Parts: sequence; C-alpha cells; structure tokens
Amino acid sequence: MNNPYSSFGVSDATYKVASELKESISGAYQRVDDICSRNQLKVLRAFQNARLSEVHFGFPTGYGYDDVGREKLEQIYAEVFGGESSYVRVQISSGTQAIAACLYGVLRPGDDMICATGLPYDTLCTVIGLKADDAKSNGSLREFDIGFSQVELKTDGSVDIEGVLHAITPKTKLVLIQKSKGYSTRPCLNSALMADAIRSVKTLHPDVVVLVDNCYGEFVEDQEPCELGADLCAGSLIKNPGGGICPSGGYIVGRADLVEKVASHVTAPGLGSHVGPSLGFNRIIAQGLYLAPHIVSESMKGAIFASALFEKFGFSCAPASTDLRGDIVQSVQFENAEQVIAFCKIVQASSPVDAFVTPEPWPMPGYDSDVIMAAGTFTQGSSIELSADGPIKSPYMVYMQGGLVSEQVKLAAMLAVERMGGRIA
Ligand SMILES: *Cc1c(COP(=O)(O)O)cnc(C)c1O
Repeated sequence: MNNPYSSFGVSDATYKVASELKESISGAYQRVDDICSRNQLKVLRAFQNARLSEVHFGFPTGYGYDDVGREKLEQIYAEVFGGESSYVRVQISSGTQAIAACLYGVLRPGDDMICATGLPYDTLCTVIGLKADDAKSNGSLREFDIGFSQVELKTDGSVDIEGVLHAITPKTKLVLIQKSKGYSTRPCLNSALMADAIRSVKTLHPDVVVLVDNCYGEFVEDQEPCELGADLCAGSLIKNPGGGICPSGGYIVGRADLVEKVASHVTAPGLGSHVGPSLGFNRIIAQGLYLAPHIVSESMKGAIFASALFEKFGFSCAPASTDLRGDIVQSVQFENAEQVIAFCKIVQASSPVDAFVTPEPWPMPGYDSDVIMAAGTFTQGSSIELSADGPIKSPYMVYMQGGLVSEQVKLAAMLAVERMGGRIA
C-alpha cells in the first residue's frame, strides 16, 4: 500500500479506512474548492483595482503620515470585506483588541449594547465587564456606564430575532453578532442566518450599529458580514485573513464614519486613522491576505477530514463532516480526560514547530477546570495554524482549528484514532 504517512506511525489499516472516506467527503471538499476560487478571484480583483505596486512595500516610520502602502492595503481590505473603508494595523495586537476598539469607538456612557448570539467570546466578557473580578477598576465598558444584555440563540442555532427586537430599547446603540462558535457548544452562524438577523435589526432600527465579531469566519463562505448589511466587522490577522504568514495585527471594516470613530479610539481624537506607521509590514499583510482563501480552504479540508474520520470511529463531531460550515472551528467529543490529553499531545507532535514539546493540562485563569492546549506554530498564538484546546472536564470536548496544510491535520487525526484505540463505528 502506498501509505505516505507510514513513517509517522500511521498504520496501513488506518490509512486504508481514511482513504475510503474520500467519497463521503467529496461533496464537502467540492464546496470548499468552489468557495475558495470565488474568494481568491475576489481578492485578486481587489489587489488589481487598488493598483498595488512594489513602491507600497516600503518602510514608513514615526507617525506614519501619508503611508501610501497602508492606504492601499486598507483600500483592498475594504473592497474584499465589502465595507466603505477599513482600518488594518499591526498596532492592533489581537482580535480582542480589534473588537474592543469597535465597542469603545461606537458606545458612549449611558448607551446599551446587546449580544444577539448569547454569551460573547471569553475575552470580550472581560471587556464588557461581565466577570466577577471586573468590579476592579480595569476600564471595562461597565465602568463607563455602558449596559449589556444578551439574547440566547434558538435551539436550531439561529438568532432569536423576535427576542433581539424585543430587547432593543431607545438606549440600544449597538448589536453584537459573533459568527464563530468560538469555544462554546453552540453551532456557528452561517451567512444566511446572519443576513436574516442583520436585515431584521437594520430594517426596524436603522440607527442601531450592527457589529460582527468575524474571528474564524473569514473566507469560510463567499460573503462577508458587511456584504450582508453589517455596519462593522472586525477580526485578527493571526487568524484567517493573515493567511498564516501575518506576524500580528487586526482589521476593522465597515461604514466610513464608524471606522474613523474606532481609529480615534485606538489612536486619539484628532489623530484617528492618519497615524500608525506600517513599519515595513505592508508586504506581508498584503501577501497574507492574498494567500488567505487558499489557507482557509486547507484548514477546512483538514477539519472535514478529521470530523469524518472521528465519526467513523464513533466520536461525535460538531460540525458533522457533511454539515455546512461558517467557521474553521471543529469540536470533537471524547470519552474521558485521557483521550483529550492524548489527542492534544498528538496535535503537538504533528506540528512543524515544537513537535518535541509535550503539552500538559494546567489551571488557566478564567477556567473552572484545567485546560490542555496544543500549538506548534510559527507565529505565537496563531490559530489559523493547527491548534487544539480542551478543558479537562465532562463532556471532554476538544476544539481544534486551523492548519496551513491539510496533510498536517490529517496526520494528527489518523494518529489520534489509532492511538486512542477507537473502534470503527
Ligand atoms: C479568537 C477570537 C476572538 C479574540 O481574538 P484574540 O486574537 O484571541 O484576542 C474573539 N472572538 C472570537 C469568536 C474568536 O474566535
């Protein structure tokens, strides 16, 4: 048998089972390829329309006034993500910072915000002021007298539109929609569900700002939140849109007046988007965006393969291998702590960087159990590169995402079912 994974310890038997999945996942792979092509051509067109040129790859320093490369890049981001303008900076160091900047840029004391997708991503709960120790004066929105409420998703995973409309009051300035499930058990929103929710809010409340947390969602489908009517969307450049090569940064896209308010929060009133030198990073951010549709398709194929294989061996996966996907996160439910730990160790050992390191569960701030994390990445914390996390508690769920090349994800999945002694379901 021609088993290219054998030197890594994948048995011919496991490789054979994996090869036989081809047919059942071919439809899902075809969808990924179609979306990838559409997104790739859209990105290429945006680069050409902006007339990007080698002169834009210089090394502006200091204040960064008239940074023409940065301006081109922001023009390209705006077109690709369907907004009037964008703010794309290496000075934004994470997705949390990008989304928090949107909240602080738009909301004022006395305003309320509503999250239409239940509890927001963990780090944003701290920004909003939902945690017990946020009583400390840490500058959360709550400390600025900004109110928060959340509306749970319906059991079918769609936004409870009636519930959201009911929750909106004259004080409501912003509705947050989180596309990805992040590290929760809910399904992610797909574009169709998101479009319905946005349209309903904007039709009845055109002045309410709809902000989408787009982390992990970029290029998974062929439309982005602002193309579906969102006023703002934001995310991280060390996730999908950085194409796996961006070393840091965040982006915000949307209505021009709102984007400028966000920029004024990040820099200072009066400075706005006019300062912030690109420091030589324009080339790599642009190249990362150019590669992103293909890189996202690799991680999607890895996730589809892994879910099909785990299902074959009797583990339950969300999304299931044949489900439509709206983000790159794959969760797998294992049976016990040993399997969670074993899987994360295998993910680590399958990496191009730090493959020799052994991850161990540890008590992480903000979690009520130990957590094990695996990541052997070129860029610290990059989760468009293959990584996996699992809290050591029932229901023994592991969240995995990313993969610059699908072979790495496939290797990890095959080694995992083999080492865990799974039996074919
Ligand atoms: C990753 C993520 C964030 C936060 O991004 P960081 O870069 O980790 O700060 C916010 N929301 C969602 C849905 C995410 O996946």
